[in-house]
Amino acid sequence: MNDMDGWVHVRGARENNLQNIDLDIPRDQLVVFTGVSGSGKSSLAFGTLYAEAQRRYFESVAPYARRLLNQVGAPDVGEISGLPPAVALQQRRGAPSSRSTVGTITTLSNLLRMLYSRAGTYPFGVDHLSAEAFSPNTAAGACPRCHGLGVVHDVTEDLLVPDPSLSIRDGAIAAWPGAWQGANLRSIVSGLDIDIEKPWNTLSRTDREWLLYTDEQPSVLVKPERDRIDNGYYGKFWSARKHIMNVLSQSQSQRMRDRALRFVQSMQCPDCLGSGLQPSAGAVTFAGLTIAQMNAVPLADIATRLRHGIDASPNSGESAPAETTEVARRITHDVIARVDVLLDLGLGYLSLGRNSTTLSPGESQRLRIATQLRSGLFGVIYVLDEPSAGLHPADAQPLLDVLDRLKASGNSLFVVEHDLDVIRRADWVIDIGPGAGEGGGQLVYSGPVDGLAAVEESVTGRYLFPRAAPSAREVRTPDSWLRLAEASLHNLRNVTVDFPLGVMTAVTGVSGSGKSTLVTQVLAQIVRRHLGATPDDPEAAERQVDIGDVSGVDAFDRLVLVDQRPIGRTPRSNLATYTGMFDVVRKLFAATDESKARDYTASRFSFNVAGGRCETCQGEGFVSVELLFLPGTYAPCHTCHGARYNTETLEVTYHDRSIAEVLAMTVDTAAGFFADVPSATRSLTALRDVGLGYLRLGQPATELSGGEAQRIKLATELQRAQRGHALYLLDEPTSGLHPADIRLLLNQLQQLVDAGNTVIVVEHDHATITACDWVIDLGPGGGDAGGQVVASGTPDSVAQGPGATAEHLAKWKA
Ligand code: ADP
Ligand code: ADP
Ligand code: ZN
Ligand code: ZN
Repeated sequence: MNDMDGWVHVRGARENNLQNIDLDIPRDQLVVFTGVSGSGKSSLAFGTLYAEAQRRYFESVAPYARRLLNQVGAPDVGEISGLPPAVALQQRRGAPSSRSTVGTITTLSNLLRMLYSRAGTYPFGVDHLSAEAFSPNTAAGACPRCHGLGVVHDVTEDLLVPDPSLSIRDGAIAAWPGAWQGANLRSIVSGLDIDIEKPWNTLSRTDREWLLYTDEQPSVLVKPERDRIDNGYYGKFWSARKHIMNVLSQSQSQRMRDRALRFVQSMQCPDCLGSGLQPSAGAVTFAGLTIAQMNAVPLADIATRLRHGIDASPNSGESAPAETTEVARRITHDVIARVDVLLDLGLGYLSLGRNSTTLSPGESQRLRIATQLRSGLFGVIYVLDEPSAGLHPADAQPLLDVLDRLKASGNSLFVVEHDLDVIRRADWVIDIGPGAGEGGGQLVYSGPVDGLAAVEESVTGRYLFPRAAPSAREVRTPDSWLRLAEASLHNLRNVTVDFPLGVMTAVTGVSGSGKSTLVTQVLAQIVRRHLGATPDDPEAAERQVDIGDVSGVDAFDRLVLVDQRPIGRTPRSNLATYTGMFDVVRKLFAATDESKARDYTASRFSFNVAGGRCETCQGEGFVSVELLFLPGTYAPCHTCHGARYNTETLEVTYHDRSIAEVLAMTVDTAAGFFADVPSATRSLTALRDVGLGYLRLGQPATELSGGEAQRIKLATELQRAQRGHALYLLDEPTSGLHPADIRLLLNQLQQLVDAGNTVIVVEHDHATITACDWVIDLGPGGGDAGGQVVASGTPDSVAQGPGATAEHLAKWKA
């Protein structure tokens, strides 16, 4: 083996379920790793190749990190040679911070600040500002009023005075304190010659504003109403706002603070109008826009405006002089070049100021890919996790073109993928399997795509080169319809949509066309409101949906939203706790003779409370290691070695297994182990039915992909599913799934519909769309160019109509 022959040589890979495999992977190529979910693709691409590249990198740059690296552990592999440095573009991990935006992820924000600082048009008399002055996250740039947040918390008259027909004596100013303090304030107001008997809405505007908002605190001689104290006393006035702000900043009582918060609303900062910038920076423009406006318009508009500026000749008078200097041209060219890549990737509808927490995983991954393209690295391996996830085929093509450009500039692309179109484009395929977990972990095939046709054993090959046409399916007819008339939110403007009930519907369209907005926000919110349920996402409640007539919602008694949000954000929640199965297991352990003899109850077997758990790691099994700037690196706990429990607890066994050993079982293994326990079997069967038999019971929520989290939620629903009138809403349930797993999932969804429920999925996957009874296609484009219903009907009829989805459906038919 040598390093220079253009191959990465792997010998004896044994990470997770990998069965001591040897393989050679070509460099400078698009290499796709395939196989059913749980087969070991990620264990090879991320767990072995990327992990080893990263470990070598840190060893070379920071020898002192070696001890820490040893703690984290090297991948379990015999030898790897010919391995260049690697960069991972992974979807699953890393919670986005709420201050990061499209602009910061792509680093375009820095560039724009430089542009405004060096080449912006300044108001007369204002000196040039530093680039930092254009960032709300720096001391120099932050608006003094809102500290750069763009929002302030303040009182409003509506909140302070909920019933303006009341007089002050009757408590018009609800925000004021009660009891004697309130009585005191009323006496003071009376002493100021304001009538406290008149209804609030008959007082003069000046008086009302003074009472609510003034900072003045006059002292007034208060004559006690009942003449106990002879001379009275001086009392200090507090306006309603001053009182509330005082409670919020001074009070130690949570109850008082909670009460005060009822009168406070968060609103756009009036000084900076939400930009978070200090006023002088907020006044500088470029191409006619302030930096705050530049952050708010779609990327596509930025490119158009800047291009226009460049084309204008220096003397035409169309652009301000500062904007046509050499510096301005250089920076604008750079901005345009970077924005163009984002436009190519179909992201022109995003704005720079868009918060990263509102982006889909596919959108953020594409942003990061575009950023890498500009970084000019060569000779590295990019390891990607399902880059096609969440993409309409019309958007997947430009993404593949960008990957080709990364390859052309001398890099290797190692991609974990399920999408058949992407697999077909690969130079080389590595198929792992044939099954999942212990049934997988072998090298099924390694070579050019065509060769996979001859590999009987490969599940991927069967889908890539189908031997028989899929059998025709009976399309269901709807029981009735649900109509949303004139709905508006984000890019939906007055759109009217009819959803068929009692069938399965796919909502399709290019990225940004409005699918998620329509299904997981508008529709979900309307049905939830109808059912009188409170939203589980308080932020969603704030985004008020604007809607006209609604009919047909009476058909449901339940709404089930199965999205890809994580099932938990800490390693304390896992598959077993989320499904409720762990309660059953803990009771089984508590019921053993050994537990009874020791007085152990079910809580002894919880790793979340003191008693049975390992106290070194407090039941986490891991301790976090500060490893340079690598966030959240964990090493196994040195006391319990990952078992999470103390020795005494581990001495108790059920059918010869300790509680830690049970948590280490896969769902498949546990199904056999608990075969005689019906309540456990129900959960386990539901998990296997959606293709999750390979997961371990104790697998922490933080290790699960969005797709796995979504299927766990679905399985949890299925274990309690009854015949019924529920509405199931799913956002891209097939993302992260091998075609074989998609088939399993579709079986489950069809059963739900057969049992009388309605299923609506947001989808790009061809097999899923054609398995539906009805298609609603949104578009025609993304962002402002979308938000309309382009076509609706059966999959066959939509395939014959106009639009990007029709093309996609028709192509597959041919
Ligand atoms: P794929 O990427 O093909 O879906 P993975 O490589 O993620 O598959 O998983 C392969 C097998 O290894 C599965 O059985 C999975 O449960 C197991 N596995 C994954 N991560 C871990 C881990 N951190 N510890 C132990 N087993 C794991
Ligand atoms: P799709 O699901 O079809 O990809 P979305 O419903 O996510 O489309 O987005 C439709 C439009 O609404 C896009 O222009 C997107 O930028 C915008 N949008 C989506 N979510 C938000 C949000 N939380 N805040 C502001 N705009 C949003
Ligand atoms: Zn402000
Ligand atoms: Zn421990």
